[in-house]
Amino acid sequence: MNSPIVTVENAGREYPGGVRALHEASLTVHAGELVAIVGPSGSGKSTLLQLMGTLDTPTSGRVLLHGHDVARLPDRRLAAVRARWIGFVFQQFFLTAHLSALDNVATGLLYHGVPRRRRRELAASALHRVGLGHRLEHLPHQLSGGEKQRVAIARAVVGEPALLLADEPTGNLDSAAGAGVLDLLTSLRSSTAVVVITHDRDVAAALPRRLEIRDGRVIA
Ligand code: ADP
Ligand code: MG
Repeated sequence: MNSPIVTVENAGREYPGGVRALHEASLTVHAGELVAIVGPSGSGKSTLLQLMGTLDTPTSGRVLLHGHDVARLPDRRLAAVRARWIGFVFQQFFLTAHLSALDNVATGLLYHGVPRRRRRELAASALHRVGLGHRLEHLPHQLSGGEKQRVAIARAVVGEPALLLADEPTGNLDSAAGAGVLDLLTSLRSSTAVVVITHDRDVAAALPRRLEIRDGRVIA
């Protein structure tokens, strides 16, 4: 339960043009933890999430995933590790428009070495878990915002990642749908650690651990 999944060590990120989006950020997320990262717009939350998710590497300091320095993994290995261990949920859902809910979720298993038929079975079961067992064949445009985000969550967790990273997952939803999505993210937690980025203090207040970020610095 207490093994570290991801450790960020004195990580900084400077974008070209001299924008220093993150300064010396340090944090560790352990198996099964539920963490909120809060801060105003532009404070560096998404930058930190990209580093934790190995979508980006720090310009100073380092990020360890299961103890491996992300910057030292070859690209191919890094892509495999990311696909296997990390699930992502974004504000904009990023569902594939021409695929059914079922097939969208099944894409979450493309890099898991699972045969197609089994992928569809697991995807159906993940959709049942998020309350969408009755929407398997719906296309994204036939779903409400809250339902789309549930599909995205099912896709993120179908491969049972060690870490689920959600960047403003309720940002495009009305408050009722947002509350439902948040409840879902909270209840999914088992061995999967969940990190939710938000600028909504009420959302953050509902989670057991909060990190505050301001002007690129983790302040609490
Ligand atoms: P948040 O998610 O908290 O709103 P971000 O991490 O997206 O903040 O951005 C932090 C700062 O870095 C902002 O000032 C933003 O304009 C800047 N920034 C983010 N991405 C880039 C980029 N690709 N190139 C240059 N500057 C960027
Ligand atoms: Mg952001």
